[in-house]
Amino acid sequence: MITREEIAAALDGTDRSNLDVARTLGVGPARVRRVRAAAGLPPYQRGRRRSCATWEEAFAARTVAVEGGHLQWTGPLSEHGTPLLRLGLEAETAYRYAFRIHHGREAEGKTNPTCGYPRCVAGGHLEDRVIREERRAEEERRRPKGRGLLDPPAGATWHRDVDLIAVERVMRGAQPLPVLNEAEQRYAVVVMTRDADLGAEEIGERLGIAARTVVRWRDEAGLSDGRP
Ligand SMILES: [Zn+2]
Repeated sequence: MITREEIAAALDGTDRSNLDVARTLGVGPARVRRVRAAAGLPPYQRGRRRSCATWEEAFAARTVAVEGGHLQWTGPLSEHGTPLLRLGLEAETAYRYAFRIHHGREAEGKTNPTCGYPRCVAGGHLEDRVIREERRAEEERRRPKGRGLLDPPAGATWHRDVDLIAVERVMRGAQPLPVLNEAEQRYAVVVMTRDADLGAEEIGERLGIAARTVVRWRDEAGLSDGRP
């Protein structure tokens, strides 16, 4: 089975007609026409397209600047869906190329856009392992002490000795109420303060602890009541 990416690659590599590519790959010309349109490749005209002489030209010919500072990729994709930049017989991912031009160094490890625009190849929107690790370390430094227990991974049911499902039941008042350990009660205090906007009295009542304990745990977690 010939994939869409293989058809796009064959169309992009040289100045070839849909019919020529269809015959070579053994697929229908209508399908080749659809892939050409979807990939944003210009219609075939004999001898019209000059082949690119430099990587810079090749990159420019396969990108369109769009609103928001993003750079849309219109060239071929790898089998994994990664923008693939070609010059003659050589190829590299457009992410690595754009990263190098922007940052002046080779990208290390997995490199991809973090801006949310699909397959964006704007150099400043790309993140390699070095930048990713720096960003995560910075986020960790900025996180107030004691709040690290918040924001468990999506879909988690246990996080740092906290049974999230039991906590959730208590917060909803679902009977019978599970008994929470201290780590779970502390977690519930922080989440109820932050997300449910409840006073210390109410939270203490729901968790079966004293209001002053709620206040103390809030302080220790770097939260203030925010109430008069
Ligand atoms: Zn972007």
